Amino acid sequence: MRPAGHNPAGMPFEGAEASMNETANPSGAGDALLQEAEGVTARLQEERRHAGIAKRDLEPYRRGNIGIPYAFTFDSGQAGPHILVTCLAHGNEPGGLEAVVALLERGFQPLRGRLSLAICNVAAYEASNGIDPYGTRFVEEDFNRVWSDEKLDGEGRTVELERARELRPLLADADFLLDLHATPYEASPYFVLRPGTRAIGLAERIGVPHTRFFFNQGSAHAPTLSNYRQFSDPDSPAVGITLECGLFFAAESKQVALSAIARLLQLNGMISEADFLAIATGRDTRPRRDIVVEIPEFTRTAQMRFLAPPGDFRPFAKGEVAAFDGDRPVLAPFEGALVLWIKQNFEKDVQAFMWGRMDSAADGPPA
Ligand SMILES: [Zn+2]
Repeated sequence: MRPAGHNPAGMPFEGAEASMNETANPSGAGDALLQEAEGVTARLQEERRHAGIAKRDLEPYRRGNIGIPYAFTFDSGQAGPHILVTCLAHGNEPGGLEAVVALLERGFQPLRGRLSLAICNVAAYEASNGIDPYGTRFVEEDFNRVWSDEKLDGEGRTVELERARELRPLLADADFLLDLHATPYEASPYFVLRPGTRAIGLAERIGVPHTRFFFNQGSAHAPTLSNYRQFSDPDSPAVGITLECGLFFAAESKQVALSAIARLLQLNGMISEADFLAIATGRDTRPRRDIVVEIPEFTRTAQMRFLAPPGDFRPFAKGEVAAFDGDRPVLAPFEGALVLWIKQNFEKDVQAFMWGRMDSAADGPPA
């Protein structure tokens, strides 16, 4: 799916030119396959170029309404849960920001409980040029890897740590955290889930998007916002969940975010039917997919080419060629292997992508 918009600056992509111009595989045996891989890789690069969300001035939101810059709480005065929606943990993921701004501009008030909205890494957003789809993820360190009390109480003084400390009081009594992200890796929006967590049940209840990624390792296990304190406490009912709303700067990502927020509010009786219908306009026409992200594949060269873009979720048979790393065919390590989380740029000896598999028990029509 290609987001609306265009690429005004025609930002170049490192590695793209090299992979287009060079011909590898001197044996000639896999020439057709290699050609196919060149085409898929070019399509992948092209898809990532398109920007649909223009950069906005965040100054009107700087004051917030609770004494924390760019943070808002709307208290119904009635008993009910505290829902915290966070966006822009990474400066180059504006879909969630657009959703939060839409709620602010609408003057949305919850029917019960409290709703808080936080625009997290404004410094990184300001550092982005708003055009480059890869933008500026963070200024000094990843805002979404500092959420342990050890780090927050430590000596670190980075831009991101200081911002996390500002926002920390807002998290203290949050019953639900919905952390909105966007990704360069996949065309479909998806929930980021760790096996065995309460977030799985919440994703089920929110319902959209239909795609859910289960990570057995990697960032889902890091000290992220949605893993912070009560959200990882086995004795707490609090739930933190991370939602990847689509590709960086894809216009659709705003609707994905708004629909998830509206559903979470609805589950908690915090939104009127009229507001729900006006806000939850996103539709996910993709089938229900549960995908288990299994093992990383590492590069040996800086020249990777793929036989399927990740959004196609094409399963490869065990031993089938799924990609080329320079001249070397990369073979699927198990039956039904999917090539997921493809890196934007490649260097030698880095993680190129993740192998995943469809959890067939959950594979089926939209829920
Ligand atoms: Zn992110």
